[in-house]
Amino acid sequence: MKIGFIGLGNMGSPMVKNLIKNGHKLIINDIVKSLTEPLIALGAEAKTSVTEVVKSEGLEIVITMLPASIHVKEVYLGENGILKNIPKGICLIDSSTIDPRTTRDIAKKSVSQGNPMLDAPVSGGTVGAQSGTLTFMVGGDEKNFNMVKPILSFMGKNIVYCGPSGNGQVAKVANNMLLGISMIGTAEAMSLGVSMGMDPKVLAQIINSSSGKCWSSEIYNPYPGVVTNAPASKNYTGGFGTDLMIKDLGLATEAAKQVNQPVTMAATALKLYKDLSAQ
Ligand code: NAD
Repeated sequence: MKIGFIGLGNMGSPMVKNLIKNGHKLIINDIVKSLTEPLIALGAEAKTSVTEVVKSEGLEIVITMLPASIHVKEVYLGENGILKNIPKGICLIDSSTIDPRTTRDIAKKSVSQGNPMLDAPVSGGTVGAQSGTLTFMVGGDEKNFNMVKPILSFMGKNIVYCGPSGNGQVAKVANNMLLGISMIGTAEAMSLGVSMGMDPKVLAQIINSSSGKCWSSEIYNPYPGVVTNAPASKNYTGGFGTDLMIKDLGLATEAAKQVNQPVTMAATALKLYKDLSAQ
């Protein structure tokens, strides 16, 4: 299949590699030209603009993996963007994490001009992108979901249909909101225990076989030396950056305002991450 892919950063590049590995022809673009070079070496064809990508002969699907809503709006709605230049019928999949309202606005325009569109944000991080084990949370028409599911399966192992347009983003925002909160809770519990004399590994072992267990305590424990491959054990390098969590908690608190849903813990967590980032 001939697939367009726009946004070749930490997530996009390994996703493209998995598609190439499985025999697909990739037409790629990123504003940072150097990101295209290793992928060209693997057989991808690079274009210098989004317009050129979407006008490629025989294109069937376009996937975007961009930082935030502002970039997605520019790439989809701009004068040289996707919607103004793409032939009818080509299916669009946005895997960026953005706010559900923007997703729904863009999808409405896209569908009305004859281009099916799905939101398909992911979890699993860069490790999941490299190993092709991402979870895709997909919103949009179910027929289109069933059509693109085999393609997403080359990049992920859990491909979940979440309902109408925007619901993939809703699921993603809710999950990351919980992660942002539980990571802080885990950090506080570990620090309290250690400062009162507990060995961090013993404390983590107890938490992980008791009711405090969560992904943050088990897989990504924030106390150094508890989980060998976690960022905390690598001097807090790598992994999901503080500013990305600020972005996701910002999306959650903004979405909550739109539906008058109180999210007290998320608002407190957001303030803590912002203070941390400022330091
Ligand atoms: P990134 O910043 O590494 O990559 C984004 C890429 O988009 C960059 O290479 C950038 O140059 C490109 N880009 C920006 N504007 C463009 C434009 N107008 N035209 C073409 N290319 C453009 O970000 P990432 O870590 O790959 O994350 C992408 C998305 O996935 C984000 O929404 C993020 O929240 C989400 N996400 C990231 C992770 C993670 O662990 N990094 C995990 C899950 C979800």
